[in-house]
Amino acid sequence: MNILDLDFPDWEDAVVRAGWKKYRGGQIFHWLHRQRIFDPAAMSNLPADIKDWLQREFEPYPGIHDPDVRKSLRDGSEKILYSLPGDSHPGGKEMEIVYLPHKTWNSVCLSTQSGCSLNCGFCASGRIPFKGNLSVAEMVFPVYDLIRKTEEKINNIVFMGMGEPFYNYENTLKAARILSRQEGAGIGVKKIAISTSGVLPAMEQFLRDKEPFALALSLHFFDHGKRRDFMDVEDKYPIAEVIRFLVQNKDYFNRRTIMLEYLHLPGINDSPEEARELGKLGQILGGRINLVPYNGETLKIKNYLLRKPSWQQSVDFQNQVKRLYKMVFIRNSAGEDIAGACGMLAGSFAKEREN
Ligand code: SF4
Repeated sequence: MNILDLDFPDWEDAVVRAGWKKYRGGQIFHWLHRQRIFDPAAMSNLPADIKDWLQREFEPYPGIHDPDVRKSLRDGSEKILYSLPGDSHPGGKEMEIVYLPHKTWNSVCLSTQSGCSLNCGFCASGRIPFKGNLSVAEMVFPVYDLIRKTEEKINNIVFMGMGEPFYNYENTLKAARILSRQEGAGIGVKKIAISTSGVLPAMEQFLRDKEPFALALSLHFFDHGKRRDFMDVEDKYPIAEVIRFLVQNKDYFNRRTIMLEYLHLPGINDSPEEARELGKLGQILGGRINLVPYNGETLKIKNYLLRKPSWQQSVDFQNQVKRLYKMVFIRNSAGEDIAGACGMLAGSFAKEREN
């Protein structure tokens, strides 16, 4: 097991099982997740036998080094590609994160899987081979690596990079809990958002577990047939059932912050009827609607022509939704010039490797 895979209570249990006092678990967590010191030899308040035990029983860090970094000249965002070692995944696997610095806060978009087992027609991550889930360590280490390199505080985390977070539920939620702990990085629970394309059983578990994090639903389409044409997940978990579940539990989700992500595909999902449905759902659920203008290349999928909307087209659609619900924003996707914007992860790096 990797030394960064354990949450605070896991460390308390582990040290007690190994014969030491519970508070030693808290000290270890503090070194790892607050001080970001991963070498047990440097944990100065631990006795030698605990240091030996840590060295013997745990991998020291996920073994990810020297990521490939592309920095946007337009907005300063960075796309960071990590190559993960092959011992846990034959042949190795890759994953990307995106760092989004702002004037007053900094965000990181994290991946939860290498590639994605779903195959949404508009998304680059679904087009590369799926190589498996990321471990907890593989999700939290890049955040600490960024803090070390930039010497900046990270205020927001979104699990919206490569992969369906709810197909790696346990690891994603554990990573979110670790990053939110006051004894560690201390990122506020409302500043951590987990996205899903609508994996209903995991959404039900999220509710049962009373997880405090924000939830972002990748909605994109209301019509079952149209959503199926673009998103495999619609076959298993039709959006009508997902919406019914959210409406039934709207008080819970609204207290935790709900976000509806709506990819804007001009001529495909921006009719007046779709604007009305989106506005009505916003009225019922509350929270925030993010319109995400499609960023990818022009593509023909089935009978649809995918192309970028003009800014004015997105504003017009936003204004139609706004007639019913005001909290609708156009997400200014950073990192477009480095293929780091929403739905672009894995596209350009994958192509560069093929060439
Ligand atoms: S949009 Fe999300 S769920 Fe769909 S293929 Fe891309 S990463 Fe996977």
